[in-house]
Amino acid sequence: MDWMIDLEFDRRHLWHPYTSMDRPLPVYPVTRANGVRLTLENGTELVDGMASWWSVIHGYNHPRLNAAVTSQLGNMAHVMFGGLTHAPAVELARKLVALTPAPLQKVFLSDSGSVAVEVAIKMTLQYWQNQNEPARHKLLTIRKGYHGDTFAAMAVCDPVTGMHENFSGILQQHYFAEAPRCRFGGSAHADDVENMRSLLEAHGDEIAAVILEPVVQGAGRMYFYSADYLGQVRKLCDEFGVLLIADEIATGFGRSGKLFACEHAGISPDILCLGKALTGGYMTLAATLCTDRVAEGISRNRGVFMHGPTFMANPLACACALASIDLLEDGDWRSRVAAIEAQLSRELAPCRDLDSVEEVRVLGAIGVVEMKAAVDMAKAQAFFVDRGVWIRPFGRLTYIMPPYVIDAADLAALTEAIIAFAAGPASL
Ligand SMILES: *Cc1c(COP(=O)(O)O)cnc(C)c1O
Repeated sequence: MDWMIDLEFDRRHLWHPYTSMDRPLPVYPVTRANGVRLTLENGTELVDGMASWWSVIHGYNHPRLNAAVTSQLGNMAHVMFGGLTHAPAVELARKLVALTPAPLQKVFLSDSGSVAVEVAIKMTLQYWQNQNEPARHKLLTIRKGYHGDTFAAMAVCDPVTGMHENFSGILQQHYFAEAPRCRFGGSAHADDVENMRSLLEAHGDEIAAVILEPVVQGAGRMYFYSADYLGQVRKLCDEFGVLLIADEIATGFGRSGKLFACEHAGISPDILCLGKALTGGYMTLAATLCTDRVAEGISRNRGVFMHGPTFMANPLACACALASIDLLEDGDWRSRVAAIEAQLSRELAPCRDLDSVEEVRVLGAIGVVEMKAAVDMAKAQAFFVDRGVWIRPFGRLTYIMPPYVIDAADLAALTEAIIAFAAGPASL
């Protein structure tokens, strides 16, 4: 489709994420994407450092994903999931049950990550209602988290860094433990665990579930915390009889170096949320998995789970997700992610010596340079586009999570651009 992109109309009529309509941030017109490259309308090619927000793990325009979607398109693009079922949904559910920790057996397919979180929260509420413990309707989470933009999800985002400060008076009030300070690779700080325990001791009988992003706190902080802490939280949940929701929407499918970040701690949640990379970044699809115990708890006494989106289990998206997971299983994602991790660690290390830089963090295929001061996003984007890379910082964080298929030279282009940015514009 070769029509011109009307930037003026875009500016006047289209919302972009987190922008105003009278002071929109600049946007770059993109016409195609292939492998790890985005092509802008003027022909400029950019090496993609963002994987379209964690999701494009196999690269753009992948022949196997294209084939999966095209072939499913010839059968049916969509059909309602009420009273009907289809092979893409059944086979995807079979795959997800096999891939995730053994206790997770039941799958709810929905449209997007935020909805998967809403579904998870609703599951815990219905679970406790049906156990005759309706008082358990609060959630406990950790500060600096991010779980999505819909209302129940916003209420468990960090009240300050979670982008939803405006709603603090309106949202459901939940309990927040301090963000764990213990770093990945180390053991849990006693204080962090104690803080979580004291909240459970004080409010345990009101708490339905703990919800957190395992090991990697993404959009709220881009921080990697101790797997030991996660293990201790799992134990506390068991001790206080509280459910654990793991939001692996960003970390699922290998990003942190394990297929799922929970594996770093060897734990299994009661409920698991997946999204983003589920379809390899092709289509919007999410999954909420739960244990038999949760499912039985909701379903006993003729209980039914009260959710059913119009596009539930969309066949095109399910077929694409199946192909994406097959690709992951057939390929050597582990060694690719490990190689990206090694290169990021090596090449971003010099940033530590720059005055503008607070800290450099790397885990799996995620590289983060935290600046001392907030970055001007529009200027930063222009700087990176000039250098032929697509990197979009926010706040004090400049970070990349490229497609796993990126080669060493393209990854070096990303890390060199980050160093130049941290040494140049970001230091002014
Ligand atoms: C992106 C994200 C979400 C929300 O997913 P959407 O598809 O944007 O609704 C929820 N939780 C985490 C951890 C995420 O990274």
